[in-house]
Amino acid sequence: MADGLCVIVTGSTSGIGMGVAHSFAKAGAKVALNGRKLNDAAQSVLTEFQAMYGAENIVFAGADISVPDQVKTMVETATAAFGRVDVLVQNAGIQHTASVVDFPADKWSQIIDVNLSSVFHGAQAVLPLMLAQGFGRIINIASVHGMVASKQKAAYVAAKHGVIGLSKVIALETAETNVTCNCICPGWVLTPLVEKQIQQRAADNGTTFAIEKLKLVSEKQPSMEFTTPEQIGDLAVFLASPSAAQLTGQAIAVDGGWTAQ
Ligand code: NAD
Repeated sequence: MADGLCVIVTGSTSGIGMGVAHSFAKAGAKVALNGRKLNDAAQSVLTEFQAMYGAENIVFAGADISVPDQVKTMVETATAAFGRVDVLVQNAGIQHTASVVDFPADKWSQIIDVNLSSVFHGAQAVLPLMLAQGFGRIINIASVHGMVASKQKAAYVAAKHGVIGLSKVIALETAETNVTCNCICPGWVLTPLVEKQIQQRAADNGTTFAIEKLKLVSEKQPSMEFTTPEQIGDLAVFLASPSAAQLTGQAIAVDGGWTAQ
């Protein structure tokens, strides 16, 4: 379904990004994995992917995506390896929880840089290539928190609402081309980013990880089940397929009914 497509997935050494990278590679794409650096953990992910999908189909394009020059280098690394970039999945993101009154200003700026500004810089880096080759898919992993809010997540909610707005602008500006731009908006997915929040709740409430995990998912997600990285990945593969050619400027929630309430 994604045979021969050349795909970059940011933040793909763990969590949702890794699931998206697996979905594309399984579907026949060439994949540039990304993380800040090729440290030991990233190297073992790269080795595992190359063993599963062939060394010629998987590269590592390191970049701190909050630094515009590094985003350009990431795109150049993928282009040098595969000759083109067909799909950019902008997934890397971070979280910090605190009330607005207590929210550290440096955390605010960091979250806006990593979760929002990087999406602008990534789009700016790939759009000229995609427009020149007459095909491209930009898929931004936003969140249900791009559609609705929760307490304690000021910077994250602001950034994710921004990602959805920015994606609509990109979709309109590319509407007459064979480039599309959409957002996938997961509800709860059990990844390191969420595990940290569950650990924090267990510490704050004097309970256990298991209790807080169940409470977390049952508070917001009517299905009472976590979405999986593979489910997000398979939707991303669909968005890159010819069937989705007219699907642009949309924010698609994969949230067990969270935003239907
Ligand atoms: P995660 O922490 O498992 O993965 C995030 C990845 O991004 C990590 O590999 C991390 O190293 C990388 N990363 C962070 N900052 C980076 C930077 N500056 N440069 C390069 N890489 C960087 O988290 P996840 O849950 O898989 O989250 C992935 C995306 O999905 C995020 O954008 C997050 O906001 C979004 N999301 C997650 C959930 C959830 O429930 N887990 C829900 C909705 C949206």
